[in-house]
Amino acid sequence: MALWNARLNQNLLHNELSPFATKAEKLIIEWIKDYFDMDGGHLCSGSTIANLTALWVARDLKGIDTVIASKASHISIDKAAKILNMKLIKIDTKFDGSINENLLPNLKNVLLILNVGTTCTGAIDNLDLISQAKWTHIDGAYAAALKFSSKYSNILNGIEKADSISLSAHKWLYQPKDSAIVLFKNYKEAKEIMSFGSSYLNDSNVGIQGSKGANGVILLATLLYFGKKGIENLINTSMDNACKFYNELLKIKNIEVFTKPITGITLFRHKKIDVDEFLNKLPKGVFSKCKPVKEEYIRSVALNPMAEINEIIEMIKKIS
Ligand SMILES: *Cc1c(COP(=O)(O)O)cnc(C)c1O
Repeated sequence: MALWNARLNQNLLHNELSPFATKAEKLIIEWIKDYFDMDGGHLCSGSTIANLTALWVARDLKGIDTVIASKASHISIDKAAKILNMKLIKIDTKFDGSINENLLPNLKNVLLILNVGTTCTGAIDNLDLISQAKWTHIDGAYAAALKFSSKYSNILNGIEKADSISLSAHKWLYQPKDSAIVLFKNYKEAKEIMSFGSSYLNDSNVGIQGSKGANGVILLATLLYFGKKGIENLINTSMDNACKFYNELLKIKNIEVFTKPITGITLFRHKKIDVDEFLNKLPKGVFSKCKPVKEEYIRSVALNPMAEINEIIEMIKKIS
């Protein structure tokens, strides 16, 4: 579908020139927004843009000038705050990488970012904090997709009270780059902030991007092919794989594991071999590194539902 899409090379900036692609994006948003109880949104090229979009709307709609986010937040939050000239206050995290709510200042006039799946450890911030701030944005780039799984969606309870949500479809919706979604509780209001019209445009350009590829067509094809149940099964397989990986790692003598993979991210290290050396011995292109607190770990993200966990475990055993 990506090849077919590339051949047509439609541009969603002009809806009269991309009638089907425009409709496909609408269908996708209709399908996804209800899982989060949002009322609209649009596709964009990544959650970096989705986060920037949400912060821009919050700033201009609510007159907010301060952003509160945890130290485990993604660099896209730093970028957005800088571009928008907003003050960014970073809060320390708890051991697992979730925001330490005891350190939060008064939230009445600020924009609060809550992470659903931090980049390093996959932690979920306390979603009970939603509604305490003037605007709460969920950075769900990585793990908001767990909402599509009835088995795991309960860990995101409360997310539906947020004002805006980012989700990267090129992460847990198995899309080619560059595919992400920004959703708003009140899209009509949000649209007023981010719509720009011009004489050469049939309809206003909404959001940060101008010309935009028809990624909704690929996402629609994915959803039609797998169906809701199929997508859910893929996500569940990834999570089951992560749990299996974690449990197997626990059994290996010289391996130390960080915490349970609540969103499919597992961190581990070798007790006797230095992290870089260990990474070098592991199969290439599978693992990365990250440093949640003081110590560095090897990081496994369970997005590939076809990953051969047994094979990987055998390799780790051999090194250990
Ligand atoms: C990946 C990620 C982003 C950025 O998303 P892109 O799609 O890479 O632009 C933002 N926040 C979190 C938590 C992420 O994991």
